[in-house]
Amino acid sequence: MHHTSSARVASARLADGREILYFDDPATAPRVPVPDARALPARPEPGQVRYDELSGDWVAVAAHRQTRTHLPPADACPLCPTTPSNASEIPDPDYDVVVFENRFPSLGPVAADLPDALPWGTVAAAAGRCEVVSFTPSHTGAFAELPYERARTVVEAWAQRTAALSALPGVRQVFPFENRGADIGVTLHHPHGQIYAYPYITPRAAQLGAAARRFFDAEDGRSTLLGTLLERESAAGERMVIEGGHFSAFVPFAARWPLEVHLVPHRHAADFAALTGAEKDELADLTLRLLKGFDALYGTPTPYIAAWHQAPLDRVLRPASRFHLQLTSPRRAADKLKFLAGSEAAMGAFINDTTPEETAQRVRAAVAGKAAV
Ligand SMILES: [Zn+2]
Repeated sequence: MHHTSSARVASARLADGREILYFDDPATAPRVPVPDARALPARPEPGQVRYDELSGDWVAVAAHRQTRTHLPPADACPLCPTTPSNASEIPDPDYDVVVFENRFPSLGPVAADLPDALPWGTVAAAAGRCEVVSFTPSHTGAFAELPYERARTVVEAWAQRTAALSALPGVRQVFPFENRGADIGVTLHHPHGQIYAYPYITPRAAQLGAAARRFFDAEDGRSTLLGTLLERESAAGERMVIEGGHFSAFVPFAARWPLEVHLVPHRHAADFAALTGAEKDELADLTLRLLKGFDALYGTPTPYIAAWHQAPLDRVLRPASRFHLQLTSPRRAADKLKFLAGSEAAMGAFINDTTPEETAQRVRAAVAGKAAV
């Protein structure tokens, strides 16, 4: 099943100038993109970013996104291939994996440096880029249901986009992610993810990056925080979910969410673009196994956020930061979701109603195909 491939990519422009990229499975015939025949309005003006002096965080203000598409029916889906009755965002009648610039982006399309801060009362254009990644031409299904070859092509697309977006002026962090399930705010059912290229380092990445850097410095650069945590989890064993040849997955000792699994490379890689072919092969396989396991936990699909943490484009934080997936779900029972209330939303102080050891036992069984009801 495994092989080292690199997907082929064809690039084109949509009617309003946005870039679209077709990533094809190795077996697909060479593609010549179909021109976009739509008459589209001009792209919206960029939104704003404002600097919050109270916290030191940036806030993107994207009021134009209020008009974006919300749960369209299948015959009007913007991610389905174009048909005579549905001129979608993807002009071709078929595709494997497609990446294109979001029509209603919260960041971009300008690419420019932001200062470290902005004076109170001033705003800057929300530079950066927001891309949509459609995993399949099929309107229904999920990443977990993709054939291995297709998941591998998605991994290749993530790697190519990470390299390309990291090279844009002003980009400080590239974040591929998937929100899955209407319960957590998904506005399109078609299986897809997104990539945000931020002009600043996000609060969470800054927090994780600072912790990684402190550890790295205390160890004189001889070991990394996430590499060490992986060694400890592997030695302890009770929270391990999958141990592979290049990646392993575990429920972290201090998991914050009712369902939380981290998938971590054994080697200190910064991002998707730094992975070898063999690592990407295994990553596609293990991601499918984990997501299938999440869906086997209950009788209905589990909503989740798949957050691919990549090392920030920052000379201090990057050397200490290791690429990994944080797969989280607010689902705490078949019919119960955890909502972020006062302690979590206001204070960032998580209270987990499940023990990480018990969660690991259940996820491990589900991944192994022995889901208990
Ligand atoms: Zn669709």
